[in-house]
Amino acid sequence: MCLKRPVIFLGPPGAGKGTQAKRLAARCNVPHLSTGDMLREHVHKGTELGRKAKPVMDRGDLVPDEVVLGMVEERISRPDSADGFVFDGFPRTIPQAEKLDQILHKRNFAAPLVVNFQVSNDTLVHRVAGRWVCSVGGEIYNIYEHPPKKPGFCDNDGGALVQRSDDQVEVVRERLAAFEKQTQPLIDYYRAKGNLDEVDGSANVEEVNRRLVEILTRHGADGDCA
Ligand code: AMP
Repeated sequence: MCLKRPVIFLGPPGAGKGTQAKRLAARCNVPHLSTGDMLREHVHKGTELGRKAKPVMDRGDLVPDEVVLGMVEERISRPDSADGFVFDGFPRTIPQAEKLDQILHKRNFAAPLVVNFQVSNDTLVHRVAGRWVCSVGGEIYNIYEHPPKKPGFCDNDGGALVQRSDDQVEVVRERLAAFEKQTQPLIDYYRAKGNLDEVDGSANVEEVNRRLVEILTRHGADGDCA
């Protein structure tokens, strides 16, 4: 399958955006661009950007728009982004969305398809509190719904599973509040442009994936490779 339009997954933390974005990107052979992962990599490497972003991320607040936009513009100018990409966790604010529209237009990409993941707050807190991530390949597990075969280790590469420092319940509530305040207006922004569809993200991974493929097909966002 090929992507005919860039895809954006919108939704609160724990909605399943990362899991689904990884699958879709692998299937279409395009990059999965998670601004959260990019920022965590900066933190991990101890870059200047990472040192500035860490306290903001640990509080559950949003990193400044210009920092995130600089990272994204650099990333989508690389050759492996030429056939499209799947955004996860970006854009988060209206200025980010407006600037992204300009960048996509400048680079001759089609208008993005935006899919909003809908999941109740109780389910989100439960999911995020049970989330463990492979420290090697980034595979995402959930100890309740999608546990690894061997506790603490990744099924794919045997990497140790770790919990994100911002996945503690109090920080999750902060992140949900930040999402509602700053990201909710994006839903209106994209709806007004006619780029938005919604998926019920409360089902299991396979079922949400099936629904997403239907949505992509309906909006002409996927197709056979030429
Ligand atoms: P995520 O992995 O998408 O949940 O992001 C983790 C944290 O990284 C967020 O709580 C923010 O502090 C920061 N972050 C990720 N993406 C963005 C973005 N597009 N704009 C601002 N901050 C972001």
